[in-house]
Amino acid sequence: MSATNDRTSHYKTIQSTCYIANTVYIGLRIFYFIVFLIAQVYPLVWYTGATILFYFLCYFLIKKKKYYPYALLCGNEYFAYIIVTTLLVGFSSGFYLYLIGLSVTSFFATYFSKNHRIGGSIIWAAMSIGIYLTLYFVTMHNAPKYFIESWMQTTFMAIHIVVAFLFVAFYLFTFTRYALSLEKKIMLQSRTDELTQINNRYGLYDYFAQEDNQSTKALALFDIDDFKTINDTYGHVAGDFILKRIAELMKNTLADCFFCRYGGEEFIVVLDSEGCYEKLEAFRKAIENEVITYEGNDHRITITIGVAKYKKDMSVEKWIKIADEKMYSGKNSGKNKTVI
Ligand code: GH3
Ligand code: MG
Ligand code: MG
Repeated sequence: MSATNDRTSHYKTIQSTCYIANTVYIGLRIFYFIVFLIAQVYPLVWYTGATILFYFLCYFLIKKKKYYPYALLCGNEYFAYIIVTTLLVGFSSGFYLYLIGLSVTSFFATYFSKNHRIGGSIIWAAMSIGIYLTLYFVTMHNAPKYFIESWMQTTFMAIHIVVAFLFVAFYLFTFTRYALSLEKKIMLQSRTDELTQINNRYGLYDYFAQEDNQSTKALALFDIDDFKTINDTYGHVAGDFILKRIAELMKNTLADCFFCRYGGEEFIVVLDSEGCYEKLEAFRKAIENEVITYEGNDHRITITIGVAKYKKDMSVEKWIKIADEKMYSGKNSGKNKTVI
């Protein structure tokens, strides 16, 4: 769940998308090459042949992770190809439909780019509309240079309709899937305490938002006794080590309960009311009996726990406040105890 992992999955998404897209482009260009050859439109046969070579060379750019130059080259190449083919074989072959896909692709590329300059995508989309309209009006008043048979036109148009939709769907699918997995990761990160890797207080709020069986629950808040002395004597890093160890002990002994680091050296446990005192006492004793060794020093830790059982219509804030008051009464009456 580290930032490095996030970056890795980011670049994996870009790379695999580029490889898939480039292969599809080559497939389409081979198809056009064959059709133009049958139609004997030789300028387009040579032009298309050159673009096939161009897209094969593009694999090197992708391999070298030069995604931005790749996207820019492909985008411009597509603009040129759409203009040339439309002028030579006519509007009714539907090459202009690629422009719709290109607009979507440019926003996709911006999202995955380093600088996130959305202005570039807006210009790109505006250019697509401009080229679309220009081609429409130019071909309206000028007959195409080459007449291709109607079955070819129909095939081109059918393919372009499908490809335009697939283009949009493919990029939106890849974008949505990536954004959803990122959102999941961020949600988890924002609810996890960085030091102890257990829930933080946002995790607690989420838990209560989802838990509809509160009436049978008890909330316990505990605080480490004389923790300041440990920090002052052995240093903050030793203190951090102890906090991590306590979180591990919670994972082991309170596995069937919800627990979180509420802040500093205070933790909250939500557990079944029935038998909660015995369970929390067992946990308190487990902490008391644990010897935590850090850099050759043995530490013995105690905690004071305050417990509040749920009462009808009680807010979470109120519930925590009552547990906190019980915990403080435990602190004032000698510490290392569970007060209910
Ligand atoms: P008491 O028994 O009354 O709880 O005494 P205490 O010394 O534990 O007092 P208190 O609870 O007020 O002290 C909290 C201390 O916890 C002070 C602060 O330096 C330490 N602390 C809070 N968060 C962290 C943390 O993330 N790491 C470390 N190492 N110490 C922390
Ligand atoms: Mg405290
Ligand atoms: Mg304390």
